[in-house]
Amino acid sequence: MITINAINELRKQINEWKLKGLTVGLVPTMGFLHEGHESLIKRAKKENDRVVVSVFVNPTQFGPNEDLESYPRDIKHDEALCSNAGANIIFNPSPSEMYYKDASTTINVLGLTEGLCGAKRPVHFGGVCLVVSKLFNIVTPNRAYFGEKDAQQLAVIKKMVRDLNFDIEVVGCPIVREIDGLAKSSRNSYLSEHERSAALVLNQSLTLAKEALLAGKNDPAAIKNIITKKLDSESLAKIDYVEIVDSLTLKPVDIINSSILVAIAVYIGKTRLIDNFTFTQGGN
Ligand code: AMP
Repeated sequence: MITINAINELRKQINEWKLKGLTVGLVPTMGFLHEGHESLIKRAKKENDRVVVSVFVNPTQFGPNEDLESYPRDIKHDEALCSNAGANIIFNPSPSEMYYKDASTTINVLGLTEGLCGAKRPVHFGGVCLVVSKLFNIVTPNRAYFGEKDAQQLAVIKKMVRDLNFDIEVVGCPIVREIDGLAKSSRNSYLSEHERSAALVLNQSLTLAKEALLAGKNDPAAIKNIITKKLDSESLAKIDYVEIVDSLTLKPVDIINSSILVAIAVYIGKTRLIDNFTFTQGGN
């Protein structure tokens, strides 16, 4: 496995692979890799001849008061994880390699980005779509792998790929959790020991909601209430949002009779964590 920093060098390698008729899988990440990322890389390895993992803390997807500067970074650790998982290349560009100083193109997927995290982080999905489409143009992968942990991101990327006719299959991969249920995240490294225990309340609240849905409850307000009550029982948790939306349109539902996404964002101390599950009434 090799690490490449320059776009031209990466393109040269990809062209050699394409001339040999090899397929390419892309796993876009911001690094500080964990078993969640690893599951995407292993899936990509299984389904493609070659795998490129991008490690890039993308400045355009962070708002002014967010954690761009403090976002954890450890490229040596990432290289070891990628190598063990079977990746062929880590693409680790600098911000100036990725963005022209006078770049002026934006990509906005309307509708799907209005609610959930998009409502709280207004520049976020524009930045995600911009960097992902640039990576798609640079790597020209056959398939690209994204986690269901970021369910709204997955829906937005699928829509962008369809709307812009990218010839790329977008593959969604299940959420990987710690043994105690906390969804793995690079941001978990911000948590103190006390906050780490408090963070379990996210998955616990979702588990209670799932039980209620399985028991036949179909009133979104009642389900939201179950989640909110549990989250409020943890003094270190501050709710950012609790939403129940249609899993395709991401619009709030009045009654639960289709496939829904139950999504939450919660501050544990200063750290904002997200979690979710999808549910199909009668189908789970
Ligand atoms: P990030 O580095 O946080 O931007 O994540 C890069 C990719 O890994 C995204 O597609 C995420 O959805 C995915 N990912 C992050 N955490 C997990 C997890 N716990 N399980 C599955 N996929 C994940």
